[in-house]
Amino acid sequence: MSMELRCAMELQGYPRGSCSTLAEDGSRHPACQVTLKREKGKWWRRIEAVHLSRPEDYLSIYQSGCNHTCLKCHSWHFTQRAAGRWMSTEMLAEEAAKYEEEVTVWEPRERATMWHATDLCRHCGLCVLEGRRSLLCPKKLDASQVVWSVQGWGPARNIVAFTGGDVCCRAEFYAEATEEIKKRCHKMWVLLETNGYGLTPRNLEILASGGVDSFWLDIKAYEEEVYKKLCGTTNKWILEAPARIVDMGFVLEVLTLYIPGWVEVDQIRRIAELVAEVDKEIPFTILAFFPEFKLRNIRAPSLWEMVSAYRAAKEAGLEKVKLGNISVFARTPSEWSTLISLVGVKALS
Ligand code: SF4
Ligand code: SF4
Repeated sequence: MSMELRCAMELQGYPRGSCSTLAEDGSRHPACQVTLKREKGKWWRRIEAVHLSRPEDYLSIYQSGCNHTCLKCHSWHFTQRAAGRWMSTEMLAEEAAKYEEEVTVWEPRERATMWHATDLCRHCGLCVLEGRRSLLCPKKLDASQVVWSVQGWGPARNIVAFTGGDVCCRAEFYAEATEEIKKRCHKMWVLLETNGYGLTPRNLEILASGGVDSFWLDIKAYEEEVYKKLCGTTNKWILEAPARIVDMGFVLEVLTLYIPGWVEVDQIRRIAELVAEVDKEIPFTILAFFPEFKLRNIRAPSLWEMVSAYRAAKEAGLEKVKLGNISVFARTPSEWSTLISLVGVKALS
């Protein structure tokens, strides 16, 4: 068996991820064997899509194949199955270079996050379409900085993010992709949206050597047993990742999803405490779950549950907390105004 076919986690003394992936012929293989390959001296990855995403306002690379099998995955049709076209790290850098020509907002490295996007724009498009601003517009951008993408109106920030599936366990791919992107672009930051399973100390060193700038770490549950049922793996070293990431000089933001009956205020409070112990200024987003994949029978959280989770994160000491997927739990104008009166506009992602 060649080196790249051996599990990178097992080689480092960790258990293999929950990464069994369905191939087109109906067979199942680890994600890194059917959605990642080494060919012609470069890494290649199966990519479902590449586009300017909202509300993140950056270039998102949607990857196929994952080391988790989350019951609530919103992208299961390409993370749990091999899908999309093969793209080399050079081809991904080419996409980033093309995108860079359209960038309208140049962020400093510490804002190479999703969390900061809603400081700039609320994606209504009114400044472009009608020459006026919406009530919630932060009034930070000129209409010329707001552009159309397949997911709507907003700015184009100088960030490229790897999203969708996640094989950070094979850190060499992300390190090489980052190097290629930085070779081709002038000032593009590279963000990894990750479940953290692949973030072993060794892999973090590889990612740092490649020049990765920031992580959007999705801590999916605090209790290990809940985590295993929800995602298929342990979360032991994922809970250690925030301290390691910050120590190594990366930018970090954390997200967690409120899933009624699975991950509620008690666990969100523990996650927030863990993050606050590392640094109270780490941006933290609490997203509202909506039914998907194998959790279609679970309801979305209520407005009051989301506000309680927000308060728990603030009580834990975090200074930068936002709520996301607002339309899931605030559906009417009166729910919106209640929410704004309770947490303020700046806390809405
Ligand atoms: S996808 Fe990751 S966890 Fe799964 S076999 Fe490959 S290296 Fe191991
Ligand atoms: S900048 Fe334009 S698109 Fe963005 S919130 Fe303001 S008015 Fe809407």
